[in-house]
Amino acid sequence: MAILEVRNLKKIYTTRFGGNRVQALADLNFSVEKGEYVAIMGESGSGKTTLLNILAALDKPTAGEVLLNNKNIVTLGEREISKFRRENLGFVFQDFNLLDHFSLKDNILLPLVLADAPVQEMEERLWPIAEKLGIDVLLEKYPYEVSGGQKQRAAVARALITRPQLILADEPTGALDSRATDGLLKLFGTINREGQT
Ligand code: ADP
Ligand code: MG
Repeated sequence: MAILEVRNLKKIYTTRFGGNRVQALADLNFSVEKGEYVAIMGESGSGKTTLLNILAALDKPTAGEVLLNNKNIVTLGEREISKFRRENLGFVFQDFNLLDHFSLKDNILLPLVLADAPVQEMEERLWPIAEKLGIDVLLEKYPYEVSGGQKQRAAVARALITRPQLILADEPTGALDSRATDGLLKLFGTINREGQT
């Protein structure tokens, strides 16, 4: 069964005064099966971030549909979208997007705090994930006290903690050295083999 289906997706950016039009996505169609691991490759400016932002419901397409579990996320209202995103999607960004004044533990737990999860459930979910990602001994540290690779592992833990249907990552190795890149890609492979789409 397709977990994600993209149909006739178009995105045209227009400047404020309508002068410049950039077609970032031109009639895109594809689907992703549950458990699949998909890499999108293309040169800078080819529309990768535009696509991911639309899949994440952070931006609206000019035309077309994005069906996640048969639900068209393009037509969701603002309030539904935040709930939908929180319950179904996990994100990993190039620049980690960790909060500097939160420990790694609090960064990882933040999505559950926002979802009003019970404290006991938070602890129960945190430990197995932190252990698997090899950051269990770093949980009390702050982002500035750990390496880039370790920061990105914390960001992956934050993405996994809500048990999302789909994890989206936009150039997640872009700020990592080659060793940490290797480690992160291996980690994504492991998570995927365990069933994560
Ligand atoms: P990639 O992530 O593959 O580098 P992007 O999705 O960022 O590509 O950009 C695709 C195209 O859309 C580029 O030509 C870019 O300049 C343009 N673009 C991206 N965001 C905007 C925006 N907010 N306003 C206008 N043009 C944009
Ligand atoms: Mg990009």
